[in-house]
Amino acid sequence: MPEVNASPVSAGVTPTASLSRLQLSEMAPGTVQSEIRAMTTECDRIGGVNLAQGVCDTPVPAPVEEEAIAAIRAGHNIYTRMDGIGRLRTAIAAKQQRDYGLKYDAETEVLVASGATAGLHAAVMALLNPGDEVLLFEPFYGYHTATLKSMRVKPVLVPLAEPDWTLDTDALKAAVTPRTRAIILNTPANPSGKIFSLAETEAVAAVCLEHDLFLFTDEIYEYFVYDGNKHISPATLPGMRERTIVISGFSKTFSITGWRLGYVTADARWMGAMAYFHDLTYVCAPSAFQHAAAAGLEQLPPSFYAQIASDHQSKRERLVSALRDAGMEPSVPAGAYYILARVDRLPGATAALKARHLLAATGVAAVAGSAFFRPGHGENLLRFCFAKRDADLDDACARLRKL
Ligand code: PMP
Repeated sequence: MPEVNASPVSAGVTPTASLSRLQLSEMAPGTVQSEIRAMTTECDRIGGVNLAQGVCDTPVPAPVEEEAIAAIRAGHNIYTRMDGIGRLRTAIAAKQQRDYGLKYDAETEVLVASGATAGLHAAVMALLNPGDEVLLFEPFYGYHTATLKSMRVKPVLVPLAEPDWTLDTDALKAAVTPRTRAIILNTPANPSGKIFSLAETEAVAAVCLEHDLFLFTDEIYEYFVYDGNKHISPATLPGMRERTIVISGFSKTFSITGWRLGYVTADARWMGAMAYFHDLTYVCAPSAFQHAAAAGLEQLPPSFYAQIASDHQSKRERLVSALRDAGMEPSVPAGAYYILARVDRLPGATAALKARHLLAATGVAAVAGSAFFRPGHGENLLRFCFAKRDADLDDACARLRKL
């Protein structure tokens, strides 16, 4: 998971009058240490098992790894076209067609981005204005709200109903105002693991169509689906392709979170501006790694993607069972690779204190549920990531059971 870095704000320095215009921007936070990073630091310090960070440390598929090395040796180390190399754009367009029957022109409707994170950033820059409102579902992924806020766009939260995070269509409709310009839909979702059903996706699409809204999707967990569930790409719904900005990436599928490689597919009308803003910040996605991702898309068989689902379903079972044994009731996720578990039994007034207690007592790091909700909510939940090598996950499960 990308993290908000600690920002080195020097405290306690009173600026002299002549320096008084040297200020942080209005948007800049004070000292920011994300809860996830704080847990990671503390977990490293005590040598614990980190189930806090959404970093899959499972192996990189061989064709991807080999092509990365070969591409560097072949000299693919310089800037690429701002929207990515033709080989990868073609492979992404073919993948969207293969998986969802979605047709995108590889020349004009695919942007290779420096991660899904950069894809969303470019989309917001290109399509929204300060003061616009965007609806998103709670629990939410913090980067979605923070990205909007960083561009002075207002996130408006639509709560999903516990325990299975069903969509309340009336609440969604009620959240629309004349300033609403878009909805962000993350399915399968971080942190809830919710997969929006066809009926729910249709309800979201209906609101987009009725109010003429963009839909930004975050489909990064598209292959992490369990119990026979299928990912529905919302752009496939009638009338949605032209207004849906499909965002996904390779971080999770190929276990390459640190390579920073993702993509956006969308109607050609929106793509030029998105590519422009992506260029402004990143110039291009890492060139050698673009070749590696293309090789993965070209060479990995359908069984590779099925294996991702079955491997992670088995990891999910292990962690669900350990959490139950430890008295922390999990909400069993249909997709993605996180579990939100109820932690009423842990001491501490807040989820952050409960997470610290758990770390001290068991050596297992989890994230405070409050990181995914509006203030005052999620204090009884912790999020555990199960995208770990089996040995580490089993170690974490054994530690949790000792609680
Ligand atoms: N979207 C979601 C919902 C995520 O959970 C994450 C990783 N934690 C990302 C995006 C990050 O994707 P990328 O590495 O492609 O920027």
